[in-house]
Amino acid sequence: MGRGRLPLPAAILRPPLTAAAVSLHALPAAAVLRRCDRQGPRYTSYPSAQQFDTAFGAAEMRQHAEHAAARPGPRLLSLYVHVPFCPSPCFYCGCNRLITRDTARGPWYCEQLLQEAALIAPLLGPDCTVVQLHLGGGTPNFLAAGTLATLIRGLDTVLPLSRSSERDFSIELDPRSVPGDYPAMLAQLGFNRVSLGVQDFDPRVQRAVNRIQTEEQTFDLIDACRDQGIGSVNIDLIYGLPRQTPAGFRHTLRLVMSARPDRLAVYGYAHLPGLFKGQRHIATSELPEPAARLELLRIAIEELTASGYRYVGMDHFAVPDDELVRAQEAGRLQRNFMGYTTHAGCDLVGLGVSAISHLGASFSQNFRDLKGWEAAIRSGRLPVWRGLALSADDRIRAEVIEGLMCHGTIEVAAIERRHGIDFDTYFSDSLLRLKPLVEDGLVQMAAGRIAATLGGRLLLRNIAMCFDAYLHRPGADAQSRPASRTV
Ligand code: SF4
Repeated sequence: MGRGRLPLPAAILRPPLTAAAVSLHALPAAAVLRRCDRQGPRYTSYPSAQQFDTAFGAAEMRQHAEHAAARPGPRLLSLYVHVPFCPSPCFYCGCNRLITRDTARGPWYCEQLLQEAALIAPLLGPDCTVVQLHLGGGTPNFLAAGTLATLIRGLDTVLPLSRSSERDFSIELDPRSVPGDYPAMLAQLGFNRVSLGVQDFDPRVQRAVNRIQTEEQTFDLIDACRDQGIGSVNIDLIYGLPRQTPAGFRHTLRLVMSARPDRLAVYGYAHLPGLFKGQRHIATSELPEPAARLELLRIAIEELTASGYRYVGMDHFAVPDDELVRAQEAGRLQRNFMGYTTHAGCDLVGLGVSAISHLGASFSQNFRDLKGWEAAIRSGRLPVWRGLALSADDRIRAEVIEGLMCHGTIEVAAIERRHGIDFDTYFSDSLLRLKPLVEDGLVQMAAGRIAATLGGRLLLRNIAMCFDAYLHRPGADAQSRPASRTV
């Protein structure tokens, strides 16, 4: 992705550990997990979005986009489209969403998205192709099938969408509300991946989080998508929800695996009621205690690895022949706002409220509120709320953190060569912060390599946090926004 996102040389990334290696035996001791259980960024970017500044606006984004476009040759893009609407609130939700049942907002929103695309497309240069497309939210299937078709075909006219079988076009679906004509339309529009939210099938948990979703709704949708030739299915689960029990969660995992999804994300619930009002409906007394939360994580690892799933990294598992696993083994895995990705070297364009773009050596985020976002577009301005131009230090640290998050390892000499630094001097503070993790058996430092151990691969965020300059600035705690827990 631009200068800030060049694929790392294989020499840096060649993993000494494969995804196959992580199993239940890798789970660190409970005392170590407790010590590591703290708030931290998810490192879908470095610096994390919390560091974006409103001093960086539309003019700066334009400048960075044009600079990136000046690079010679054809350009591959990732495109993220945020659809914020949901018909009802799930209480655990931490997404930027707007609860409404007014379906007329769908076509209106798509019109604005197409105008936004028309504003940004001329800045990206003439020879762009979108090879990765992701619709997230919110609930993208809030858009009726016809509206979705208008959106995708309209986007294709300004940001050409790849027809290659290598394309990666995905959409998040809520099985409770997907219209019957959706899977066929998705296939027609070129989608080849779907991601379904499940969280937990236990009815007691579902009532506590206000998300009643039957097994039939979920499995019928998976079947319908597969019948249409949509080959890749991801399922999201959450551990740490209210009323969750080991037996109930194990049952959910086994049910989900009976459909053999290609990928599974098992997120830890982040209870931040000060930040997400909906979470105030969740009774703290019904949340699992830390030890019970760890047991749920242990069960997830046990069940998934026993069924042949590979641990890719932070919360993500996949079947052995999945592209993410293959990319990791080949040292090509990357991470962006959509999570782990195989599309190295693409600039990222984000459309819609709160969407984030990564163009050249910059990040920019759209207004989080519909009003501000729409007002900017209507007046012909890019709807940028805040952003950041990456410094040289940001770029070095981003490379180290991405290497750790994707491959659990970095090759010191390669970083030194690439950036003209003496690693031990440049990262002296980081190396001091790593020491306790080495003592806890989570990191090994030997032969010019810093590598997460099997146990450390389950705590990649803690290792990456040692290299995060922003977390360790004076006053960082006071300024920081609450973040999710690392265990
Ligand atoms: S979890 Fe998904 S469906 Fe539920 S409110 Fe949040 S964005 Fe909407």
